[in-house]
Amino acid sequence: MFTPLQNRRRFLSRTIFLPSLVCKLYEQAEPLLAAQTAGVPVYDLLIRGGRLIDPSQNLSAELDVAILEGKVARIAANIAESQARQVLNAKGMIVTPGLVDIHVHVYDGVAPLGIPADPNCIAKGATSVVDAGSAGAHTFPGFRQYVVRMVETRVYALLNISVIGQSTLSDGNQFGELLDLRYANPKLAIRTIEQNRDVILGVKVRLTENIAGQNDLRALGLAREAADAVGLPLMIHIGATYSPLPKILAMLKTGDLVTHSFHGREGGILDNRDRILPEVRRAIENGILLDVGHGAGSFSFGIAEKAFAQGVLPGTISSDVHQGNVNGPVYDLATTLSKFLHMGMSLEEVIRRATSNPADALKFPSGTGSLKVGAAADAAVFELREAPWEMVDSVRERRPGKWRLRPMATMKAGKIYGNSVIPVYQ
Ligand SMILES: [Zn+2]
Repeated sequence: MFTPLQNRRRFLSRTIFLPSLVCKLYEQAEPLLAAQTAGVPVYDLLIRGGRLIDPSQNLSAELDVAILEGKVARIAANIAESQARQVLNAKGMIVTPGLVDIHVHVYDGVAPLGIPADPNCIAKGATSVVDAGSAGAHTFPGFRQYVVRMVETRVYALLNISVIGQSTLSDGNQFGELLDLRYANPKLAIRTIEQNRDVILGVKVRLTENIAGQNDLRALGLAREAADAVGLPLMIHIGATYSPLPKILAMLKTGDLVTHSFHGREGGILDNRDRILPEVRRAIENGILLDVGHGAGSFSFGIAEKAFAQGVLPGTISSDVHQGNVNGPVYDLATTLSKFLHMGMSLEEVIRRATSNPADALKFPSGTGSLKVGAAADAAVFELREAPWEMVDSVRERRPGKWRLRPMATMKAGKIYGNSVIPVYQ
């Protein structure tokens, strides 16, 4: 294989004996040739011509991203193609830091709702994801060995306070991991976290009645104990809980996260007159983060629209993509982000909630969710196409969609993952 420059040189050297043709060709090729011979390529990859949206640097402009040795080396307008060995043509596309999805389920084969990480995360633009509670202390070693270590997606975890994680609940077995509270074991959770701090970023507890029965507050207390002992945040899963939401929220601390914030079931963030509960406002003021966690049963357009109208927005947007929603209505994080574009958020606000906000919330390794110079070059390219589509939430409410973000290419540490949908020049 020859580079374009080598090919051009070979072509010119072969045609040198056809004077008239050569002159014409050489005249055309000369400026390009001069530009290319002016310097040897200094970058490995150049993402060129796209609109870069990187909320961590307040960037939203047509800028190129140059990558060297797996790291972001330079961000500037019009970096010459000749400066890079490989060029990804992102003209007309949106370029973002690799998305960060803090609620997925990728313990494929162990938790019944698990799905394979790579085709559903990195292939769709999410380079860093957090499996939210599929594994507990007993099943975490397998998660680390057979998922985290094996896949290309950067997979982190929130450890389920139940030692059995989410291995019990399925369509055929409607009994969750906290119906018997003897499985909630802070001591084992703490030990597992201490041994795996590079992967585990917090503690997860699911409080829905078919999962925790009437034990929700006690289960939450045990999760609280583990989270406090290791100094990490707690993510709680709400909706259709035995105890009312205000009692649950009262047990949270600054930095904790509530997922399924806009669910349409009992025990939501609105009162019976559709006003935001004062306890929810207080929680937000106290630095508790509302996460989306769309999921199969946990996101309602109606609830989100009413909350937005009262000034309550999510801090992070996550998909909760799993076996029960990957073929709709969730599909992937980009589809979830597209729904929020239609609820009045700008593209920048939406991307912030899937890059720098989640990266800050769960204290990922530095550089995650950012394309700052020196950060690992994890990036995603999307097309924002104007095309009518029907948006569906988790309660089968529908809204007309006008725009949709489509994943076109993903880079992890400067390497293009899989097949890029857009042209790449060598
Ligand atoms: Zn979930």
